[in-house]
Amino acid sequence: METAVKLPAVTKGAGVLGRVSAGWRDGVVVTTQSPWTIARPMMASPAPNIVFVKSLEREHLEELVRAGTSRPIVIGLGSGLAMDAAKYIAWRTGASLIQVPSTVSNNACFTRTCGCLEQGQRAPVRNVPVPEQILIDPDLIRQAPARLNRAGVGEVLCSHTSLVDWELAHRAGRDVDWQAAIAERTRRELRTLEQVAPAIGADEMDGYVALMDIGERFAPEFLAHPKARFNAASEHLFAWCLEQQMGRRLIHGESVCLGILLMAHLQDNAPDWAAGVIRAARVAFRPEQIGTTWDQVERAVLALPDYARQVVPWYSIIDALTDHATDGHGKLERGFKAARAFVEGLH
Ligand SMILES: [Zn+2]
Repeated sequence: METAVKLPAVTKGAGVLGRVSAGWRDGVVVTTQSPWTIARPMMASPAPNIVFVKSLEREHLEELVRAGTSRPIVIGLGSGLAMDAAKYIAWRTGASLIQVPSTVSNNACFTRTCGCLEQGQRAPVRNVPVPEQILIDPDLIRQAPARLNRAGVGEVLCSHTSLVDWELAHRAGRDVDWQAAIAERTRRELRTLEQVAPAIGADEMDGYVALMDIGERFAPEFLAHPKARFNAASEHLFAWCLEQQMGRRLIHGESVCLGILLMAHLQDNAPDWAAGVIRAARVAFRPEQIGTTWDQVERAVLALPDYARQVVPWYSIIDALTDHATDGHGKLERGFKAARAFVEGLH
């Protein structure tokens, strides 16, 4: 049964931040330093209440809740870190939520999950409030580092591998709210992404906005079918597990893109097609470019069976390769070697 969920109002256009921010006197802006420095002069009158987010550790978010963030409006302004923190505060305080992405690097403004951590381990809060409003201001987004904006490709391309995992989970009898119609609509969005990838790679605003448009078209599915995994599965497990092992954040869309290449290869799921999109959009994906090493990547991939058992219990290609295996993780180890050779061979 479809659940009626109120959708966020998305307001787009140059100068929208300046116009709408005039009504935020009673609000608190939840942000980080770089986007705040850029956004501040663009705002009508900078909100008097600002909190800077350092991490998504639950303890830190609770400190922010205690530090006077009880305001009727919470505005998340920045990248995934600021927007996830704003979701948490709105959820805890009952405030209404406004999200202002400062880059198109992630889809946090469209999802109802806050990627909270507990001592470095993912402990997400689900079903956080839907934002009342999402502001997409090209004047703000164009000032973000192009590398961050391009990385947003990972948040759509991840569907290439998650659709396969989602169907595997469904066939394995897991309750993942399988919806063939959503799978079909998602495939259509992947074809759209393929078409806009060169514009993103050329750092054109139209390409960036097209990415956010896809996120916006996914939003109703995120809200109505929270169990459906059409937009995150093994490639995200990999990216989260890698960050957990490294004990620090990477650029999310970049580690997700590396995950997509590895998982598509393990799934025997057109890895060359995914590589074509990533290269057209010029997203960094090589371990040495994105702040990690092949040793760490290998450790993360081989830790995925445990990660999926203990931290994020999602069924994926990783289970399909290791369930009932008579050689332990042999299939996964061999599959990883071949996937690594594939990624290293990309020019
Ligand atoms: Zn993501």
